[in-house]
Amino acid sequence: MGFPTNVADEVLVRCGRHCCLCGKYVGQKIELHHIKQVADGGDDSVDNCIPLCFDCHAEVKAYNNLHPKGRKFTEKELKGHRDKCYARYSINSNNNKDTYNFDNMHKKIFQPTSNDLLAQWGYSELDKTCPLFQGNIILVAGYTGTGKSAYLHHVVNFNIKRGQRIVYCCLKDKVFNVALEIIAEDAHVNVEYIKRGMITEEDWNKITHNQNISDSKNLALIPYSEISDNSDIISLVESSGAEIVVIDDFNGIIFDDCKLVERFFYQLKSVSAKNGVIIFMIYNLSIPSRPDKRPMLKDFPSDDYYRLFDTVQLLYRQNMFYIDDCKGQDNLEVIIAKGALKNPQIINL
Ligand SMILES: [Zn+2]
Repeated sequence: MGFPTNVADEVLVRCGRHCCLCGKYVGQKIELHHIKQVADGGDDSVDNCIPLCFDCHAEVKAYNNLHPKGRKFTEKELKGHRDKCYARYSINSNNNKDTYNFDNMHKKIFQPTSNDLLAQWGYSELDKTCPLFQGNIILVAGYTGTGKSAYLHHVVNFNIKRGQRIVYCCLKDKVFNVALEIIAEDAHVNVEYIKRGMITEEDWNKITHNQNISDSKNLALIPYSEISDNSDIISLVESSGAEIVVIDDFNGIIFDDCKLVERFFYQLKSVSAKNGVIIFMIYNLSIPSRPDKRPMLKDFPSDDYYRLFDTVQLLYRQNMFYIDDCKGQDNLEVIIAKGALKNPQIINL
């Protein structure tokens, strides 16, 4: 009775939580159907399983042999639909072989080690409200100047000290600048002073006594030039050996066609789930024309941009727009639009 968890995990990743008949993405509203019924000797194997939405599941089960109406779904046909669906969302399927070149560029960056510590935000309020789990994909969105990168640099620093291995895709800025920013965040030194060579002796001491430098073996910064196309990001998630991959930022990924955005996210979700890698993606939102500037999910170009993410956080600084109301406060608001234990949540950092 019922498919075991490992079978369920595998088939749900393979279909990307799409119904294998109607092709709809249905999230939690998915059921696993026995192609050959248990009563007829069907087993709980991957081969005998097809993920279906509630409607299609009802449809498949509705056929009544005693009152034949319409055409019955045969076992062979169901397997055919299912395999077509799996092929669509698989990165190893035949139709994608040309797109994905797993060349020698991004093989292994980190050697496998055992690390029992799980990744954390390093912001205690967030670890309580919105804990990280292996295989999660997390979207951090906000307007230019909100400090999205700095927010994640803290997460990077916190986790490399805990022995997490991190690949950071620098799609927006030069590797050198990103490295400076990460070091500055850890040492609590203003990065602009470092860039301009205006460091005080005190700052210099903070930087050189920085524990981070000794943890840098846990951090790999990948320059834009090494990410020739989107499949390189997928292969980094799949084979770098990192436990965390940061994509800074999404706007640096070029798509020939907007339909490919959805496909890219399915593949990202699929490889992260399979490999237990946590992905942080930064996304730059355009400032809306409405009077209330606090960002919302509808500010994304379409729901394809966020619906596959386990967590969506919208970062906001009120003083970017309403200087008078803030009385000099410079709080970063983290609006957890999706994925908090209790939705919705706003946390001030
Ligand atoms: Zn369906």
